[in-house]
Amino acid sequence: MIRIISDYSMKKLIAFNWKMYPKKAADIEGLLLAFDDANIDTDRYEIAIAPPAVYLPMIADIFYEVKADISLAMQNCAWQSEGALTGEISAEMGKNVGADYAIIGHSERRMHLGETDEVVNKKVKAAMGARLGVILCVGEPIEVRKQGIVVVKKYIKRQIDGALHAIEPSSYRGIELCIAYEPIWAIGTGKAATPEDAVEVIAFIRSILNTNYGIPTARILYGGSVNAKNVTLFVEHDGIDGALVGGASINKKELKSILKTLHS
Ligand code: PEP
Repeated sequence: MIRIISDYSMKKLIAFNWKMYPKKAADIEGLLLAFDDANIDTDRYEIAIAPPAVYLPMIADIFYEVKADISLAMQNCAWQSEGALTGEISAEMGKNVGADYAIIGHSERRMHLGETDEVVNKKVKAAMGARLGVILCVGEPIEVRKQGIVVVKKYIKRQIDGALHAIEPSSYRGIELCIAYEPIWAIGTGKAATPEDAVEVIAFIRSILNTNYGIPTARILYGGSVNAKNVTLFVEHDGIDGALVGGASINKKELKSILKTLHS
């Protein structure tokens, strides 16, 4: 799908991160059934699914066949376009099988797979080099949150500066950079941030992008225990440009209920 950024960046982006689920390709179809009669307001919302990379070609084929207006995202990419990096998948490879975006710097990768700000920076550059939109994840752990908002902002600024280090402003031309503010204490815990807490950090991220990077229009999403009950609080908030939804999007019933809230 060719992205015209000015079109898409006007819409709220709801991205579903399927993490390392489901185990069997056969279960994908069940999840995709949730979209069948969802009647999503596509003038308002852009929907993206981020499945495990192994399922990207299959889902891209299904979307092509049924002409689904749904974007696809990789959950990660390598920092090189090809090479001797056993087990890695490059942004180009993802792009060539139908991905529109790459999620970079998810906290689960930072925590469990040792991704540093430096690695995240290389991956952002690789994804942009492959002309994929980037969904860059940032967010503080609970110990940082407990120290108060000033420390939270300092932490988030360090992550953004690390991720966007030495990227020429011209590189952003025609390539979308989204940020997902995902406080780690809210991911998979059932304890979502309040919209007010989320907006405080999101507004701060917006000001850094505008002032320090000359990016005034990036979509900034909230992620962390978003579900059918609370999704509208986030996605209908003027200060929030969408949501990154994890666990709830791999539960058929919950996914269907979330999609219902986005109907036209
Ligand atoms: C995520 O995986 O990005 C996420 C926000 O997970 P969850 O919705 O399960 O908290």
